[in-house]
Order: sequence, then structure tokens, then C-alpha cells
Amino acid sequence: MHDQPKSPDISNPWLHPQTEQYQQEAPISAGPAFTSTYHLKGSPDGATDFYGRNSNPSWRQLEQVLTEMEGGDALVFPSGMAAISAVLMSNLLPGMRLLLPQDGYHAVRYFSQNYLACRGVTLVEQPLRDFHQLDFSDFDMVWLETPGNPGLDLVDIAAIAEKARAAEALLVCDNTTMTPLGQQCLDLGADIVVCSDTKAVNGHSDCLMGHVASRDPDMMAKILQWRSLSGAIVGPMESWMVLRGLQTLELRLARMCETAQKLAEFCGDHPKITSVRYPGLKSDPDHPLAQKQMRLMGSLVSFNLADQTAVDRFLGALKMTAEATSFGGTHSFAEQRYRWDQTMPVGLIRYSVGCETSDLVLADVAQALETV
Ligand SMILES: *Cc1c(COP(=O)(O)O)cnc(C)c1O
Repeated sequence: MHDQPKSPDISNPWLHPQTEQYQQEAPISAGPAFTSTYHLKGSPDGATDFYGRNSNPSWRQLEQVLTEMEGGDALVFPSGMAAISAVLMSNLLPGMRLLLPQDGYHAVRYFSQNYLACRGVTLVEQPLRDFHQLDFSDFDMVWLETPGNPGLDLVDIAAIAEKARAAEALLVCDNTTMTPLGQQCLDLGADIVVCSDTKAVNGHSDCLMGHVASRDPDMMAKILQWRSLSGAIVGPMESWMVLRGLQTLELRLARMCETAQKLAEFCGDHPKITSVRYPGLKSDPDHPLAQKQMRLMGSLVSFNLADQTAVDRFLGALKMTAEATSFGGTHSFAEQRYRWDQTMPVGLIRYSVGCETSDLVLADVAQALETV
């Protein structure tokens, strides 16, 4: 547990050896600990590992790295939504009020509508861009996502944190689009950070994972109790896979963000594209805020084509880029967000830049735009 808040050195989280644990000739790669239970003689008092729903050495290894990166204690969950529902279910009681972004991740809203509203929690949904003006005084929890996805509107985390603190509301930040390497939500004042590690943190589109982190030990004890009792636990194999993915997170993000910047600039100049959003574009309305609170500009670029015909032609003509949902993987993806959410503009394409060379990405988008 962290005694006091600290700014982590996250330049390469993998290379923080837990030296006291090193044993001569121990394997460098520990491998997953496949076990449902542990040797336990006599009294269980003081035991850490006694049953597989409560703890596992593979989770612990992953959590140590995530704790280092977040600058607050981290707990892993089997998906981003398992992490998110743990925070909601263990904190919100009947009579409490939750503020949610209307334009944030859709499953957070559906979960709240289906399982919190009927338990007497009042939900208020507002567009992210209005959060700065809203009065927080009646809220018990404020849920933030910045950059909002897929609109890529930014919200000033530090300013919202100050307002939330004054209103005695908990501030939760969904940091999936940025990862802890791109944005340090706890440093910026959030009480809790959640992240879907299914995206860039694992980064290989081959398993789901999520985590919760906070600097409040009581909060983390509550979240841990939820995990142990609800049974929303991670498989040892998946823990090991994400730990392997993390070794290259910094490298992958550097390549992805560099290409995303080039793609956004290319889209901004293209006659077939009516508008583009990318926090790294100097012309983007949120660029100054991005420079203030983000360490990277991200791997997502959103742009608009004229209409459904343009969208069909563009997506149909892409060669290297896969048409798929999700983002943050080594492969580039593109999709029309309207197919999930009819409040979105028909022409809105979310492009998730992968680890291919920027020449390949730009060439694929350019040739697909030729057909529009
Ligand atoms: C994908 C995503 C989630 C949910 O994560 P899963 O791992 O799919 O459960 C939550 N928030 C955001 C912003 C996401 O993109």
C-alpha cells in the first residue's frame, strides 16, 4: 500500500525489480500459476494465499506493475466492465446520485440503467462537454471519460476533481483510451481510475482484462471484497498474457500515437473528409487541454464522411485495416459508430491506429478514400 500519493516513474514499468523477491536462478518469466487452492496447514490466520477466488500470484505480479504505473493500488478484473461494475456496485447505495457522461462508453450507461436505477440510485446523463458547467452538489459519484469515445471531446480532470471534492462526490475516471502511460488520472485528482486493459494495455486483441486503482486503502479494501465475494476474478493465463503485453506498451503506444498524428493531419487536409477530431492536432479545440493533462495524444482518430454511401465505399475498400470494433491492438481497425449508437452522426468513422508502419496506414486510408 502507498503511504502517501506519489508520482510514479512510469517510463518503463516493467523494469522495476522487486529485488527482495529475486532468487538466484529463479525463472525470468514466472509463467501462470494454475491453481485453485494452496497448501494450508492449521490456522489460516495471516495467510495471503489460501483459496483461488481470493488471491493468485499471477494477478499479484500484474497488479504490482499496474500499481507502479497508476501511482495507486491496483486490482485486476476479468474485463473492463467487471472493473467498472465493481466500482459502481460497491459504492452506490439506494438514494445516491450518479452523474454519467451521455457520450461515454455505452455499456456503463446500460449497466447503470439496468442494475442501479432499480436499486434506487438516481442516474443523470449529461454530455461530457457540459461537465465543466454542471452543479455537482447533489451527486455522490461523478463518472468521467476523457477523451470521450468516439467523439474525442476532452474534459479537464483537475478542474472536475476540484468541483467533485467541494461537493463531496467521488470522481471516477475511465482512462481506457489513454492508459496510465498517456494520462495519470490519480495525479490529476481522480479518486478512482478504471481501465479496460482489453485495449492498448494488453494490446494484442487476444484476451479481455480490466483494472481499478485508487490511493484510498479503504476504497481498495471495499473493491477487493467485492471481487472476492462476487467471484469476478481473472484467469492466471490471462494475467500472464497481459503482463507480457505490458512489456511493450510504451513501444507500441509510441508508434501508434506517432502514426495517429500523421493520419489526423492527412485527414484534416483531405477533401472527402468533412471534419476530424484528434487531440494532437493544433487546430483541435481541445489541443491546449490535451497538452496540459495528457502525456500522449492517443491512437484513436475520429473523422466524418459525407453520408452512408461514402461510409460503405470507404470501409469496403480498406485492405490492411480490419473493420472491427475495439481499439488499442497491434492491428489497425476502422468502424462506423452509427451501427452501435444511432445518436452518432452517420458519417462518423473511428479509426484505431495499430502498430503497422505509418506509410502502410496512410496508404490504406488514402486508397480507400479514392473510392468515396
Ligand atoms: C472497452 C471499454 C470498456 C469496457 O471494457 P471491456 O474490457 O470490453 O469490458 C470500458 N470503457 C471504455 C472507454 C472502453 O473503451
